[in-house]
Amino acid sequence: MSDDLPPDLERLRVVERYLELQLDAVRARIADLTGGGPAAAAAAPEVTWVVELRRTPQGYQPSVLHDPGCFALGGVRTERLSTADAIEALAGPRARLAPCALCTPERQLGVTVDRG
Ligand SMILES: [Zn+2]
Repeated sequence: MSDDLPPDLERLRVVERYLELQLDAVRARIADLTGGGPAAAAAAPEVTWVVELRRTPQGYQPSVLHDPGCFALGGVRTERLSTADAIEALAGPRARLAPCALCTPERQLGVTVDRG
């Protein structure tokens, strides 16, 4: 982890978004240069999962994982997760998120989640 990064969540989110936009632009340029062949397909951005943040006395905490197109996401505070991180957050030994009951991301991710 770089010491150049800001310490607070708000600014880290801005940096994260900026880097996502930069990465998208780089991948688009690569796709242009390779004519959209297999290399471009390999460089296509993966589906990014959405974590709903719930307000708690300790601040906003990650709570529920959603498909990016889920209609339950309107107006809620969120952050993004890669597919690998989403699987780990749902079903790994350090599971910390519940799957959304509407968009059922665990099915798309192919993981089994104990809803008890
Ligand atoms: Zn959902």
